[in-house]
Amino acid sequence: MTKKYDVIIAGCGAAGLYAALNLPEELNVLIICKRELSLCNSSLAQGGIAGVYNSPDDNIRFHRNDTLIAGGFKNDTEAVDILVSEAAQDISRLIELGVDFDKNEDGSYHRTLEGGHSHHRIFHHADSTGREITEKLLAKVQTLKNVTIMENTILCGVKKISGGFSSFMRLADGSYITCCSRYMILATGGIGRVYKFTTNSAAATGDGIAFAYEMGAKIKHLDWVQFHPTAFNNKSTRECFLISEAVRGEGAYLLNCKKERFMHKYDSRLELAPRDVVSHAIVQEAKEQGSSDFYLDISYKDSDFLKKRFPMIYRNLMEQGFDLTKEPVPVYPCQHYLMGGINVDKNSETSIPGLYACGECSHTGVHGSNRLASNSLLEALVFSRRAAAHIASMEYSSPDDLTAAEFDPHIGSPVIPAGIRTATRNIMQESHFVIPDKEAAARGLVKVTELYNMLAEGDFLVDTDYVIARSIVTVAKIILEEVTK
Ligand SMILES: Cc1cc2nc3c(=O)[nH]c(=O)nc-3n(C[C@H](O)[C@H](O)[C@H](O)COP(=O)(O)OP(=O)(O)OC[C@H]3O[C@@H](n4cnc5c(N)ncnc54)[C@H](O)[C@@H]3O)c2cc1C
Repeated sequence: MTKKYDVIIAGCGAAGLYAALNLPEELNVLIICKRELSLCNSSLAQGGIAGVYNSPDDNIRFHRNDTLIAGGFKNDTEAVDILVSEAAQDISRLIELGVDFDKNEDGSYHRTLEGGHSHHRIFHHADSTGREITEKLLAKVQTLKNVTIMENTILCGVKKISGGFSSFMRLADGSYITCCSRYMILATGGIGRVYKFTTNSAAATGDGIAFAYEMGAKIKHLDWVQFHPTAFNNKSTRECFLISEAVRGEGAYLLNCKKERFMHKYDSRLELAPRDVVSHAIVQEAKEQGSSDFYLDISYKDSDFLKKRFPMIYRNLMEQGFDLTKEPVPVYPCQHYLMGGINVDKNSETSIPGLYACGECSHTGVHGSNRLASNSLLEALVFSRRAAAHIASMEYSSPDDLTAAEFDPHIGSPVIPAGIRTATRNIMQESHFVIPDKEAAARGLVKVTELYNMLAEGDFLVDTDYVIARSIVTVAKIILEEVTK
């Protein structure tokens, strides 16, 4: 039997969870995630959450200005105004929910500095802020009687039906269910796994963007991808451990293969220039030096301070054989964040009425062409709360009359051929990494379009591999189309 909900939310990261807890308790809500609850980009966030809250030396005009400068003034200014002026509301809500931001000795909140910020305004929980926030949000959502949480449940397809949406999901045991809802919120996160090297979690395969695209929703600026300059470079693993911007905020130097500082050649803000500037500088310097060996060095600082300030980074690097307090650590840029996405209005509604998108899969316009550090958790909270408020403002209409659409999971059909994801990732790494290569992108688009057509038209079992491969190929195709326009 088809289950009916008022709202279905795909995604249990910061955006999905915060939407769930802001929806009225009279609404029957289902929230799902495709793997375990902790596997999401939100849990990985290290640096913190930006916002002007009880900050006498700071001001929302400064936060606005920094956001616009980092975004190359390509931001939607109305969305930026909402972001910076509503930050205090959501940061104070997090504190109410028990999020334990670090404090100074006098009891005031410690705010750190990150690239592109003119003031210390990043609230943080040591260097594992995302895990602290998502754990507290999840604990609250788990107490809500109106919200059903299903993990290891992958959304395989969504169709617009009369008066709502029909969602098709695969459970961990390989069985399928169909659910209907009046409203649908896509909070499926980023696209890191479309690239060969990324800081993102395995969940970041762009599924929500692919579903929205298939439904005909407007997708905007998907080629606005941020490459973080300082991922730990062990030159092999796909998921690259991030060395937070906050390490540069605390004074770390970037060194080239000769172990010399070089940022002065590229930008007067040196190591604290915005991410895109630093990533470009590294790639340029790599060409000039003929070597892609780069290092981050903060070993001149007090070692007890570093261990206390960056416990998780310190631990992870020690596991990799590097002691941050004693030596430079190898780093290189890799895919980190998506500024573009499913286009939404100020209520996070997409171009399809009743379909909402929030968090990293959405394009609100706040980031322009380059996100200011620590603005994304904030965006996820502010705009998912707005989605919930918009749904709450609608006249109530029971979902009981909704009729599920047909979905065919092609049971008995073969699984997809191996190698689709790897081929796509290699294309993206070659054609759209830090400085896009139009010729490689044009070649890549031909291949990716072939893969897209094969998956769309072929007779394959709709299992997890199929959904992920199809999302990755769809996202790559949209990006390369943008690049080659
Ligand atoms: C290493 C790292 C460090 C970062 N540091 C910071 C920071 O310090 N400050 C900051 O502001 N931002 C930071 N970011 C960015 C920020 O964490 C993310 O942009 C933000 O948390 C995204 O939240 P989200 O809820 O949109 O997505 P996510 O948290 O990624 O959640 C996505 C959810 O969608 C689910 N999902 C996906 N596809 C499906 C499907 N088909 N079916 C069902 N469920 C699905 C996943 O299972 C997951 O639950 C960092 C990111 C990374 C990777």
